[in-house]
Amino acid sequence: MRRIFVKEIFARSILSKSGIIGVDYAINPYLGCSHGCVYCYARLYTARFWEESRNREWGGFVFPKINAAQLLRREIRRKRRGLILLSSVTDPYLPEESKYRLTRRILEILKEYDFPVSILTKSPLVIQDLDIISGLEDVEVGFSMSGLDSDQLACFEPCAPSVRSRLAALRKLSDEGIRTYAFISPILPGITDSHIELLLKKIKEAKADRVMVDLLRIRPQLWESIRKAVETALPKHIKLYNKIRFDLSYFFEIKEKFDDIAAKYGYELEWMY
Ligand code: SF4
Repeated sequence: MRRIFVKEIFARSILSKSGIIGVDYAINPYLGCSHGCVYCYARLYTARFWEESRNREWGGFVFPKINAAQLLRREIRRKRRGLILLSSVTDPYLPEESKYRLTRRILEILKEYDFPVSILTKSPLVIQDLDIISGLEDVEVGFSMSGLDSDQLACFEPCAPSVRSRLAALRKLSDEGIRTYAFISPILPGITDSHIELLLKKIKEAKADRVMVDLLRIRPQLWESIRKAVETALPKHIKLYNKIRFDLSYFFEIKEKFDDIAAKYGYELEWMY
């Protein structure tokens, strides 16, 4: 078990404009993310803003923004109604959420102001807020996942909850009548493509309403951590990952195959690239 450095902070703002297509705002109740995914680009933004995070290993720190609810209450009054993504550079259901309940308080305010919200997580902890989620007018819950092989995935997402538990939570929410989606992201060559049919079958069994897909972007600063994970989990694929750093053709070549398999399960994949 990794030791997580937790430090409560006061953020300056909480409801930020989003650059993601179709999303108006993003809310990140935590700075840092204890899931520690090696491919995560959020660390690049985090390090820019907070001196203290700079020398800490990604995944080894979480800064709860303890004034998140107060800030949101102040900021939301001045904003035009629009879709909020919760979250874009952290997971709103980190283990720390059991203690801080920041996401829960945020959802209560969004309910009051009737803002649509898309919750994106890797954690079944979201179930603890089912009572409030089911009372929101316009909400959907998505789970990101890259494959099914837990040993291989552990090298890429060392502290994230298992995909099996994410699928179970997805199913639970779907059964409760919540709109749900699976976000196959990032595609990890050698993992995602080797079980794509089974993954889509499991997603279908969990009753996700829709499926989005995104590729792996290997930014120069992330290569070292990704390389180590590939060498451990997928040594035969190191050449391919090295190529992907500069040439994304692999991700375009697999699209048709993924689309064909998804169609068998009644999905039209929503490609993010
Ligand atoms: S769960 Fe998301 S935000 Fe957290 S480390 Fe993984 S990719 Fe980054």
